[in-house]
Amino acid sequence: MIGQLIEAERSKYLVNSHYDLIVIGAGAAGLMASIQAGERGLKVLLLEKGEKAGRKILISGGGRCNITNNKYSEIKDFLQNYPRGSKFLWGLFSKFNHIDTINWFESHNLKTKTEEDGRVFPITDNSADVLNTLLKACQQAKVEILYKQNVKDLLIKDQSVFGIVLQNETIIYARNILVSCGGMSYQKTGSTGDAYEWAIKAGHKVIKAKPSLTGYLSPDAWIHNLKGLTLSNIKLSLYQNSKKIAEHSGGLLFTHWGITGPGIFKISSLAAGQDYNSDIYTLYLNLLPDLTREDLENLLKEKWKNNARKKVINCLEGICLERLKNEILLQIGINTQKTLSEISKKELNQIIESLMKLKINITGIRPSGEEIVTAGGIELNEINSNTMQSKIINGLYWAGEVLNIDGFTGGFNLQSAWTTGWIAGNSV
Ligand SMILES: Cc1cc2nc3c(=O)[nH]c(=O)nc-3n(C[C@H](O)[C@H](O)[C@H](O)COP(=O)(O)OP(=O)(O)OC[C@H]3O[C@@H](n4cnc5c(N)ncnc54)[C@H](O)[C@@H]3O)c2cc1C
Repeated sequence: MIGQLIEAERSKYLVNSHYDLIVIGAGAAGLMASIQAGERGLKVLLLEKGEKAGRKILISGGGRCNITNNKYSEIKDFLQNYPRGSKFLWGLFSKFNHIDTINWFESHNLKTKTEEDGRVFPITDNSADVLNTLLKACQQAKVEILYKQNVKDLLIKDQSVFGIVLQNETIIYARNILVSCGGMSYQKTGSTGDAYEWAIKAGHKVIKAKPSLTGYLSPDAWIHNLKGLTLSNIKLSLYQNSKKIAEHSGGLLFTHWGITGPGIFKISSLAAGQDYNSDIYTLYLNLLPDLTREDLENLLKEKWKNNARKKVINCLEGICLERLKNEILLQIGINTQKTLSEISKKELNQIIESLMKLKINITGIRPSGEEIVTAGGIELNEINSNTMQSKIINGLYWAGEVLNIDGFTGGFNLQSAWTTGWIAGNSV
C-alpha cells in the first residue's frame, strides 16, 4: 500500500516538493544543521519524536551544558580526545571548530565562560539558555519544528532519498534528508538507535553501538566501603586477562556498586565494546604516578628509619588518604596498629605494591543506556567529510552521535555534534 502510494506520489513530489530539507532529530546536531540551512534560505522541516527539543542538551554537563573545550590551541591536540572519529574530524574542524562554536553562540547572544580546565559553559551555568538560544535561532531562520513525529523509515529509490515515513504512516517528501537521531545512551531523551536500521537498509555499514563514558561494576567489598571517596590524578590501567588494554590518568569516585569518575570514563571509552562476561577484567590504580617504585621505597624506608615506634597507619599520612590507607592495609592483611619496627620487608613490599598497583576486580560496566555516549554508529568512510552527505545515497546526510564518532568528557561530544550539524546545514 505504502509502496504504491510512494510510487504514485514520487514523480509529483519531485516537481512540487514543499521542503528543501527534512531534519530528523532535534538534538544538538539537528538544531545546528536546521539553523544553518534555514539561515541560508532553505525551507527546513525539523521532525522530533519527543514533546520537546534538546532533551540531552538540557541534562548535559550536570544541567550546565559543557558546550565545547578551549584548552588546546592546536587542532591535533584537541583531536586526542576522540578515541573514534579523530581522522574524520580533522578536516571538519578546519571548517568549524571549538573557537567557531564559542563565536557562534556569542554571536547568537549567548555569553560563554571557559573554566580553568578548558571546559566552556554558558555564563549562566544553565543548559536551558543553550537550548533557548538554538530554538530562537531556529525561529529566526524560519525552521518549522514538529514535535511528536516519530520517523519510521526513509524513502529511497534509485540511490536517492526522497522523503520519510512516520510511525503513523504519514509520508513527507523532500529531496534532502538529514539524519541526526543521536546514539543509544540515556534513551529517555529519545536517542534509541532508530537510525541504524535505516542506514543498513540504505546500504551503509554500521559499527555496532556500544556504551562509552560509563562506570565499572566491582564485587570487591572494600570498594563499596569507600563509597563517596574521590581520588584525583591517579594512573588507571585496565587488563583483560593478563593483557593491558587501556591506560589513562584522571580522577575516580568509589560508589556502592564500583567506580566511576572522569578517569574511569576515559578508560571505559578506550576499552569500549569489551565482553565482560567472557574474560577476566582487572583495573590497577597507581595512587602515586609521579613517583618511581624506587622513589617510593626510599620515601617509606626513610619514614621507617625515623619512626620505628609509630603505627604503620599513621606513617602513611600524606601518602595516602585516611579512609583508603585503612582499607589498603586490611586488604593485604596488615594490622593497622602494628608499629613500623614490626613491619617485615615482605610487608613493606606489599604496601608499595598496593600503593602503585592497587587491584580492583571488574565484573562489567553500568547497565546499558546509563552511559554518557555511544561508541559506534555510521561508518565514516561512507560519508563525504566536506558535506556530511552519504557517498551511497544522494541527498542523505548524517550528523551527530549517530555517526561512529565519540569523545571523552569535557565538551568534545557536543563539539562533534555542532561541527557535523553545521557542515551538513551549510552543504545541503
Ligand atoms: C548525562 C549526559 C551528560 C552529557 N554531558 C555532556 C557535556 O556536558 N558536554 C558534551 O560535549 N557532551 C555531553 N554529553 C553528550 C552529548 O549530550 C551528546 O553527544 C549530544 O547531545 C548528541 O547530540 P545529537 O544531536 O547527535 O543527538 P541527541 O541529542 O541524542 O538528539 C537526537 C534527537 O533525535 C530524536 N530522535 C531519535 N529517533 C527519532 C525518530 N525516529 N524520529 C524523530 N526523532 C528522533 C531524539 O528524540 C533526540 O531529540 C552528555 C550526555 C549525557 C547522556
